[in-house]
Amino acid sequence: MVSVGDTYFIGRLGTAPLAGLALVFPLIMLLQMTSAGAMGGGVSSAIARALGAGHADRARRLVVHALVIAAGMAGAFTILILLLGPGIYGLLGGRDETLDHAVRYSNIVFAGAITVWMANTLSSVLRGILAQRLIRRICENCAVESYLNPDQIAALGLKVPVERRDSLRVRSGEGCVSCRYTGLFGRTGVFEMLDVGRRIRALINDGKDANEIHHAGRIEGMEPLRDAAVRKLADGVTTFEEIIRVTADSE
Ligand SMILES: [Zn+2]
Repeated sequence: MVSVGDTYFIGRLGTAPLAGLALVFPLIMLLQMTSAGAMGGGVSSAIARALGAGHADRARRLVVHALVIAAGMAGAFTILILLLGPGIYGLLGGRDETLDHAVRYSNIVFAGAITVWMANTLSSVLRGILAQRLIRRICENCAVESYLNPDQIAALGLKVPVERRDSLRVRSGEGCVSCRYTGLFGRTGVFEMLDVGRRIRALINDGKDANEIHHAGRIEGMEPLRDAAVRKLADGVTTFEEIIRVTADSE
């Protein structure tokens, strides 16, 4: 928010405006740290936990709550600093012209506190997730083991050494009363987690499209949705057909 450019231009206006900026700077850092660090960290981990537990509804509610809280915090910040700002800048040593500049600059910055809170909250929401799919779980009551056949291995695009091709164990449900003869019972989620570090955050803030962000995520070690889904298959959580169904439209 306070860039090198800002400082350069304000510096050219004279020393009083620059001194004013220096007085406001600690409060700007406080605004950034509370919205991105304290609040943002809490939001992204709560959402990741909800999604990890398969509670998509709870995750959606968390997003709404986070935005309401962010709006409230932004409002509180704006009001507090409009009221207390001049006193704080005075305590920090601001006098006369310098204090005037500090208050004027501060009022402009903190009137816009809402945009800082919203941007930081939304990029924290994005921090958890790029994609998620619900898959049906195999019914534990009638699950049986089998092996993937060569066609299925090819369809999944798995790169498996020839000698191991007939030993890829998977499960499916035979069908029973408790699963109404579908072989499937209940659901779980498959996720593609994107950890939004500094580089990804910069791409998001620059308004880059999803493909570009996805590509950068892959480079930084994100597990693609397809791999996460195949892991569920290998763990015996779901069937080959479910994996094909949910990954058909990804990549
Ligand atoms: Zn069953």
